[in-house]
Amino acid sequence: MIRTRIPPSPTGEDLHIGNLYSAYINWTFARKHNGKFIVRIEDTDRTRLVEGAENQILSTLRAYNIAPDETIDIGGPYAPYRQSDRLDIYKKHAEDLIVSGHAYFCICTKERLDSVRSEMQAKKLVPRYDKYCLARQDQVKREIDSGANYVIRLNIPADTEVVFTDMIRGEIAINTNNLDDQVLMKSDGFPTYHLAVVVDDHLMKISHVIRAEEWISSTPKHVLLYQAFGWDLPFFAHLPILRNPDKSKLSKRKNPVWASWYLEQGFLPEAVLNYLALMGWSHPDGKEIFDAEEFTSVFTLERIQPVGPVFDITKLEWMNGQYIMKLKNDNLRDKIQELYKENKLDLNILNLSIPLVRERMKKLSDYWNIAGMLFEPPTTYEKELGDQKELLEKVTQTLEAISEWKADVIGEKLQDLATAEKVPFSTFFMTLRIALSGKKITPPLNESMEILGKEECIARIKNAA
Ligand code: GLU
Repeated sequence: MIRTRIPPSPTGEDLHIGNLYSAYINWTFARKHNGKFIVRIEDTDRTRLVEGAENQILSTLRAYNIAPDETIDIGGPYAPYRQSDRLDIYKKHAEDLIVSGHAYFCICTKERLDSVRSEMQAKKLVPRYDKYCLARQDQVKREIDSGANYVIRLNIPADTEVVFTDMIRGEIAINTNNLDDQVLMKSDGFPTYHLAVVVDDHLMKISHVIRAEEWISSTPKHVLLYQAFGWDLPFFAHLPILRNPDKSKLSKRKNPVWASWYLEQGFLPEAVLNYLALMGWSHPDGKEIFDAEEFTSVFTLERIQPVGPVFDITKLEWMNGQYIMKLKNDNLRDKIQELYKENKLDLNILNLSIPLVRERMKKLSDYWNIAGMLFEPPTTYEKELGDQKELLEKVTQTLEAISEWKADVIGEKLQDLATAEKVPFSTFFMTLRIALSGKKITPPLNESMEILGKEECIARIKNAA
């Protein structure tokens, strides 16, 4: 049984786009193998908790149609799925490790730890805890019984090779001389990430731990923990970290990082996921546009390249535009209506506008910029009209004389006028466009005028003149 997971920490306002990427890979891999995708909430770092974050993370995942099979609000066979509800489990496992000699109590003060650290640094050694408390456990336990603050540390063996296989990167080995005796239980009674993640991944029967590259350096500690418990290792795969176009790590300063931001901007979830699928992975047939179902059928972890893929919002916009073009008119209309629900758009105008704007839109939120002129007259003008009073008056007369208010008729009469006035079409229609909309870019002008109606067009032109 294939079981994958993402264990987000509720320490930000929403799901990070990098976590959405991990989620999509984990969800896809589970679906491909008829497995389960689990979302566990890792809230053991009590100092960084953000209120409401866990609900926001789940609702964002669901908005992208990446629904967990087991999580905090739907339960599952290995509940609870929130780490703060599992403290007894970690405590018991830490105690088991003490009994088996793989862990020990430590009551060293911060001052002592700091001085050990600086001494080692001065000697140009990897700063590590010196196992001082390990050699005096009886006394340490007595002091704990009389109220001393303590942590539990992993007793990492000296000079041992820890080896594991990463499905994307191959074999990774590290010598334990580079590892510190990791704290497993903190003095506040909460486990650290390292203990909790291993215990939970084992108890929740996670078969594949697929997570971001930044956790590679933690994996040897986890491997030692699995060995200490006498448990089989899961498969590991570390995904490349997404980069800004300048190759720096994706960060808030250069790119919006919250996954729901993209939906608010009118990116379609399918397009964002399609784009994320291409981070470090390519379709065997070289295709760029493919849906979740197709991705599931062709995806393999081994095909992911470990080099930092660039998350380029311009490329994403292009892809989103491709998805918008594929939507049926009604479907696109519903999405636009939803995005602008506060504006209460006139349904008739909305329906008429869709075929005119769809090819110009990259995001749903481009709609108003392009089609807003169909709903309201301009209040400002992007370009000076200059002295066009006379010409605009002639336009008004021409329009007034039209009896059949249809785009092609309007276009024909206006071209006749431009020719008669010896004004080049491009100048003529730009003047008219600005007069009607205030903007240099609009939906096709004749069709827009048909939608606006004769009276409205004439009123706007008179106003501009
Ligand atoms: N809680 C970690 C995070 O926030 C999970 C890392 C892992 O997948 O093991 O990313």
